[in-house]
Amino acid sequence: MKTAYHHLSSEQVLKELNSSKNGLSEDEATARLSRIGENIIPTSKPYSIPALLLDQLKDAMIFILLIAAFIAGLLGEWIDAAIIFTIVFINSLTGFLQAYHAEKAIEAIRRMATIKTNVIRGNKLMSIDAAALVPGDIVTIEAGNIISADLRLLESATLLVDESALTGESISVYKSVQELPDGTVAVSDQVNMAFKGTIAVRGRAKGIVVYTGRQTEIGKIASMLDRKKLKTPLQQRMAKFSKNLSVLILIICTILFVLGWLRGEKPFPMLLVAVSLAVAAIPEALPALVTIALAKGASRLVKQNALIRKLPAVETLGSVNTICTDKTGTITQNKMSVQRLQSSDEVLRSQLFLAMILNSDALYQAGIASGDPTETALMDYVVKHMGEDYVRTGRHSYPRIAEIGFTAERKCMSTFHADGSEGLLICKGSAEQIMERLASSELDKALVQLVNEWSAAGLRVLAFAYRPLKIEETKTIGAHSAEATLSVLETNLVLLGYVGISDPPRKEVIQAIKECRQAGIRVVMITGDHPETARAISADIGLSDNQNVLSGYELTTMSHAQLKNCVLHTSVFARVSPAQKLDIVTALQSQGQFVAMTGDGVNDAPALKASNIGIAMGIAGSDVSREAADMILLDDNFTTIVKAIKEGRRIFDNIRKFVRYIMTCNSAEILTLFLAPLLGLPLPLLPVHILWINLVTDGLPGIALASEKGEPDIMQRPPRPAAESLFAHGSGTHIIWVGSLMAAVTLVVQAVALNLGNVHWQTMVFTVLSFSQLGHVMAIRSEKVFLFRQGLFSNKPLIVSIIVTLILQLTVIYLPAANTIFKTQPLSLVELSLCVFAASIVFHAVEIEKWIKARKPAVTSTH
Ligand code: ATP
Repeated sequence: MKTAYHHLSSEQVLKELNSSKNGLSEDEATARLSRIGENIIPTSKPYSIPALLLDQLKDAMIFILLIAAFIAGLLGEWIDAAIIFTIVFINSLTGFLQAYHAEKAIEAIRRMATIKTNVIRGNKLMSIDAAALVPGDIVTIEAGNIISADLRLLESATLLVDESALTGESISVYKSVQELPDGTVAVSDQVNMAFKGTIAVRGRAKGIVVYTGRQTEIGKIASMLDRKKLKTPLQQRMAKFSKNLSVLILIICTILFVLGWLRGEKPFPMLLVAVSLAVAAIPEALPALVTIALAKGASRLVKQNALIRKLPAVETLGSVNTICTDKTGTITQNKMSVQRLQSSDEVLRSQLFLAMILNSDALYQAGIASGDPTETALMDYVVKHMGEDYVRTGRHSYPRIAEIGFTAERKCMSTFHADGSEGLLICKGSAEQIMERLASSELDKALVQLVNEWSAAGLRVLAFAYRPLKIEETKTIGAHSAEATLSVLETNLVLLGYVGISDPPRKEVIQAIKECRQAGIRVVMITGDHPETARAISADIGLSDNQNVLSGYELTTMSHAQLKNCVLHTSVFARVSPAQKLDIVTALQSQGQFVAMTGDGVNDAPALKASNIGIAMGIAGSDVSREAADMILLDDNFTTIVKAIKEGRRIFDNIRKFVRYIMTCNSAEILTLFLAPLLGLPLPLLPVHILWINLVTDGLPGIALASEKGEPDIMQRPPRPAAESLFAHGSGTHIIWVGSLMAAVTLVVQAVALNLGNVHWQTMVFTVLSFSQLGHVMAIRSEKVFLFRQGLFSNKPLIVSIIVTLILQLTVIYLPAANTIFKTQPLSLVELSLCVFAASIVFHAVEIEKWIKARKPAVTSTH
């Protein structure tokens, strides 16, 4: 039975949970964490090692092979049986390790993407993973936070919470701290509680954690609907493709078996060959390899400050052709400083300074201003000109009694102060917003002119205005006054003046934008700032060729069709509200664009979700935007997006490379075994040989291809269409022709050796096929660059895996014990050289393919 904490007073709750306003000690928190468990609601069943192991054996072909090997053992072919068992075991083990690795990597991503929470422990404010919260912890909340556990509130300054995630109720609720009378049961009535998963829209609060994880209200609902695992589009396509291919391979293997039988081969060994071929040729490892490549990519991305929250983003990054980016902090340095100040008349100058510190949430402690960069810039300026004492006494003399916080929609904020019985309203914000609130006698054309001039110089302009409040008005105001009541008072204001703030662009952005242009990616800047400021900054960074800036005001007058017509030619949108960001994304998408969109505010979440890749800010972002995003920029820097796209393109290229590599190997094996009898040749390979080639080629070199460096032109070609097949750009043809070439080379060696009466013919066939794979993997490393240009040793893991494979193959040929097991014979130097020569044909052929492709004009792929 859960305790009804909302009926208890703050003191009782603290006592009940053995905590205090200074929070728990670290030791106590650790002890509680190990007793109660993490504050998480599992959304999918955790993977288990036995289940993964069993998964490997579930494969019907493996099962048939094991039975066949078992029968072979019974028939006295025990070496064959043992070796098949061993290879199947190693195969399953590799499969298991890959699946395990993939699960681990995905879990690591999940862990990295957890939300942080501010908590007071041992009387110190710190930021911890929300998963580590325990009952008794004291947490602080501010606008934009997602509440991370069920809390009983202890203090609240106009905390307004959106509880729709929990109650479905769209109207946000003001919270209070008083204990509630008995009989209040409904979650929506418990106004002194804040529940996990709900969103702080406005205000600030402090609360004590009462329930965590599954014990929370949302935990009770969520545990009933465990979500399915999210697969990336590529993983889905890969799984479907593997399935279809399996059917095709099974048909081929059945035909092979029947033909062999009809030709007079003994049915049982023939069955063993057919089943081994099926096991080898069905690319069951591909989906796991794709997952590993994506997850590895994600962990490399985080080193470059791009934290992936959702795995599909790694794959889709490479398809981005439009980046919609914020300006402040992403394009600019977020290092704001006041450059110009103009009071509307000299008398009001000191009031302007006072307004700059009163209408501000920035803190000033120990000589340092902290908070929103715009406000700290103002604070620093005042301290520099008036001294620290001015700030302290000013704030002390006019305590704040109410506020309407800044939002990206309103673009201004108001604070209400009391000085004895007299009151004062101060409003600061964009010039347009302040102008709307002035007494009409205040409007001055010269000032409008000045705002335009400052903005054109790239400055962010803030206007300040004030009004004394009448005693009756002051009386009606309190910390819990609703916004609607307060905003009625924002009229007839007196203009105090303007402040111009500079925020220089990040130097490296200029280069990043050039890179985007070469890579066929359009950059669109969407900002809440003035159109002229936006134009100036965009010119500084070389963003727009045309000086076309659309303002939020113009957007409101446009139909969706009109917007759709101009989104492709407009690179700068200014004075935009979060809702308009959503309109811009959808308009771009309806023009076929694949959009990455940044956002930091609470209300940016819908636009982030609607975009193809939603990007949130690690430093300045709100929890809500981070939760909605696919990727988080840990350094808030635009350049990081471009780096991530480059990495995304490389990862996809490498996935395509190893898919192409493995599929070519498999098609070569099938063709060799299928064609030999049709050409009147005996079965070229024994089951162990087939399984061996599959094991050594599928495994190591395949994975090592994922470490290949990016192609030199990686950012000089247009983005890959999102729905493009893995087999586009000649990959499908490559698989068929190189597979056929390998089979042909192998069969020619077999035919010649047999004609010459060479008794080592089978070992030679085995070696040629095996070495051909190695030659192929070296050539396939780049789709365009010749190996000698690329450097033989530039992919270390691959070189290591090739050397290991070579040594293993030579062991199988020359070690007497292996000869018995694999039914091989030691080759003479001439025979071995012949095998190496034959295998190198494949390498050279693929290098020539690059040369031919380079001479042909590029054909852009459609599908
Ligand atoms: P971007 O979207 O490029 O990141 P931004 O998010 O910084 O820009 P907003 O923060 O929405 O843009 O600011 C829009 C306008 O609101 C600014 O041009 C400024 O006039 C005003 N403004 C910004 N910060 C404050 C604040 N703390 N108080 C009052 N007004 C502000």
